[in-house]
Amino acid sequence: MEIKVQKDTQLRQVAVPPGAGPEDLLNTPVIQEAAKVLRQGGLVAFPTETVYGLGANGLDSQAVAGIFAAKGRPADNPLILHIAAVETLTQIVPEVPPLARRLAQVFWPGPLTIVLPKGPAVPDVTTGGLDTVAVRMPDHPVALALLAAAGVPVAAPSANISGRPSPTEAAHVVADLQGKVDIILDGGPTSVGVESTVLDCTGPVPVILRPGGVSKEALEEVVGTVELDPHVQGRKEIDGPVRSPGMKYRHYAPKAPAVLVRGEPPELFRRLTELARELEAQGEIVGLMVSREMLEYWRKQNIDYSHWQIASMGSRTDPSELAANIYRCLRDLDETNVTRIILEGVPAEGVGLAVMNRLQKAAANRIIDA
Ligand code: AMP
Ligand code: MG
Repeated sequence: MEIKVQKDTQLRQVAVPPGAGPEDLLNTPVIQEAAKVLRQGGLVAFPTETVYGLGANGLDSQAVAGIFAAKGRPADNPLILHIAAVETLTQIVPEVPPLARRLAQVFWPGPLTIVLPKGPAVPDVTTGGLDTVAVRMPDHPVALALLAAAGVPVAAPSANISGRPSPTEAAHVVADLQGKVDIILDGGPTSVGVESTVLDCTGPVPVILRPGGVSKEALEEVVGTVELDPHVQGRKEIDGPVRSPGMKYRHYAPKAPAVLVRGEPPELFRRLTELARELEAQGEIVGLMVSREMLEYWRKQNIDYSHWQIASMGSRTDPSELAANIYRCLRDLDETNVTRIILEGVPAEGVGLAVMNRLQKAAANRIIDA
């Protein structure tokens, strides 16, 4: 059954003066209006530090069903509950284990999502039928003000149509969800640019179910050993049960087929160039998502790249910059007439692991080693 969603979406700019905290925004009319929409069961898209989220009252199953309908999201792909204060955890989980408490202390507000056994107040629709629940406290003044004003845990997946790249600007949300949500809060481009790290804390050793804005290295500094779910690591075919249902869906896919080339420069740069030429010779219109270093290499080698569509991700040596740009780059290439896309692999260290995970998904696991 397809549920038709038709709403009169309002786009609202939220003025965030430099240094403004959630308490400065809490009583502004725009935040109060959006919070009221949430309390009444409506849908509000809002900025976080990772990507834009599409929020609804996470304890109201009908409101949460609206998120799935607006996004076209499969019902078994669970949502993350967003909270503005650690105390709200008591509404969501029966117990906060010491490990989770420590992680929350260090990384919240921030791009870390903690998975714990769920409490009875959380409806099945929010967790996709799982007996665990994912929670995080976002590090963005608009998000925190909205959550505090709403006074309920807010379920919020990324504010894109399922299968599209996650939105890092309000314009991306408008492009995907105009007419399907009540309010879109525009708080400018997001700073982190990739989603939160999802960490399963239901067992003795925490397991990364999705790499994201908090690196494995940073987690290990605080809690010692952290495992990486085998589904994160790449080519492993996903069949049977997965611990994070989101991982089985093809995400972040650009319209044109993409291939990811892994390796180290200069061999990597040579292979990327060769591949672009090969595809062009076959009559393809070629788009490339590359680093600043790749552009420098072409210039130094006098290689003419003007007939290729280029999306520049930033420096290979700066994973945060790459993370902040990848979704915009994927959307930018979708706006062109390219028929094939080549993605430059980057070092999978720190937040680079999340970047490579998203690039791999964009390439639907078509990977070449240079
Ligand atoms: P999104 O908010 O669109 O980035 O998606 C949320 C991600 O969190 C998906 O990959 C989900 O599979 C994952 N997730 C949410 N709740 C749970 C849970 N209870 N257990 C494991 N993974 C979860
Ligand atoms: Mg998403």
